[in-house]
Amino acid sequence: MPRKHSEQLFRQAQTHIPGGVNSPVRAFKSVGGSPVFFHTARGAYLHDEDGNRYIDYVGSWGPMILGHNHPQVIEAVQAAVNEGMSFGAPTAVEVEMADKVCELLPSMDMVRMVNSGTEATMSAIRLARGYTGRNKIIKFEGCYHGHVDSLLVKAGSGAMGIPGSPGVPEAVTADTLVLDYNNAATVAEAFAQHGPEIAAVIVEPVAGNMNCVPPNASFLQALRELCDQHGAVLIFDEVMTGFRVALGGAQGLYDITPDLTTLGKIIGGGMPVGAFGGKKAIMEHLAPLGPVYQAGTLSGNPVAMAAGLATLNLISEAGFHEALTEKTTRLLDGLTEAAHAEGVAFTTAQAGGMFGLFFTDQSRVSHFADVMACDSERFNRFFHAMLDQGIYLAPSAFEAGFVSAAHSDEDIDTTIAAARKAFAKV
Ligand code: PMP
Repeated sequence: MPRKHSEQLFRQAQTHIPGGVNSPVRAFKSVGGSPVFFHTARGAYLHDEDGNRYIDYVGSWGPMILGHNHPQVIEAVQAAVNEGMSFGAPTAVEVEMADKVCELLPSMDMVRMVNSGTEATMSAIRLARGYTGRNKIIKFEGCYHGHVDSLLVKAGSGAMGIPGSPGVPEAVTADTLVLDYNNAATVAEAFAQHGPEIAAVIVEPVAGNMNCVPPNASFLQALRELCDQHGAVLIFDEVMTGFRVALGGAQGLYDITPDLTTLGKIIGGGMPVGAFGGKKAIMEHLAPLGPVYQAGTLSGNPVAMAAGLATLNLISEAGFHEALTEKTTRLLDGLTEAAHAEGVAFTTAQAGGMFGLFFTDQSRVSHFADVMACDSERFNRFFHAMLDQGIYLAPSAFEAGFVSAAHSDEDIDTTIAAARKAFAKV
């Protein structure tokens, strides 16, 4: 597929945009080559600047669960724009949004809207610390919660966090403990050692930033019990999984009630939106009711709320997630069969409409180390072989993929057929 215009734009972009992109993974650094510049998106398809069409399994990294530019979402956005782009004052649509979110996620008594997933997790951590009067937090290796200083950490010796980026002071990560995902025993040890100092455990209930790693049967339940025993706040980061793995999120799917939940992606229907919320007793500590400060000029923006609400209403239709899950299973079954037919060691993971592809001979991938042991070079070759056939996968072996309601059976079949050719090459 010729991508001359994309390549030209990428060269031009690098003059005034660091790395030519406004978010690092877009630059194709891990898969190599030049990123695709897109022009138009409709349903399951993306169209690039050279007029090529792709079946999209990124969905803007999750939000586009209905497919791109769903007519009812576009209509809602246009209607909202006509009334005013931003008020910086309360609007009815924010009340409607809060009611809807708390209805879909019964663990949430109250919710505050923000503008990104990063803001949601940053605020949830501050609130948990303010509420408990404690400083330490537990996070898991391979889980990403946005580029919040205290969460941008790597596991150091003794699991104490060391900065994951220059610019993050050691003092800021000193209170972050980084533990192994899907390993409840290490969490129990950390609580035994530091219990009275631990404000919160933050976890992606299905890890979607180290490829896609669903939780082991008892992992989330163990986190719930340990937080209860030690008076710590359990935060489910459902920025990716919320409204994606099930209408009620991962907390609904696995039937575990967190104290706080962070949301993003689908809740904005493609507009920049995040949210955090949970138990009333905790949320009441937030300004203006309580002393924990948090604010936003554009928070609850009416255009963004309109896109999000229209999306939430459409995905609330009976059977929506069942159909999405079934379609995703069909895709993964087809890919696995194609890989094995070509003798490629390959396995997949799935939670609802979210999936992972692993080039490994292990049958199940549960830990960060398992993900790191996969053949990422082989993934990179597979990625490019798919891209050249008009299939757009996430440009990294460490990202989850997403199916939308707009993907047709024919799109899935086309993808599987392309994969068979790609597996033969890699
Ligand atoms: N939490 C999770 C689980 C995420 O996947 C992401 C983004 N991929 C974030 C937080 C950060 O969200 P944002 O990029 O909107 O800041």
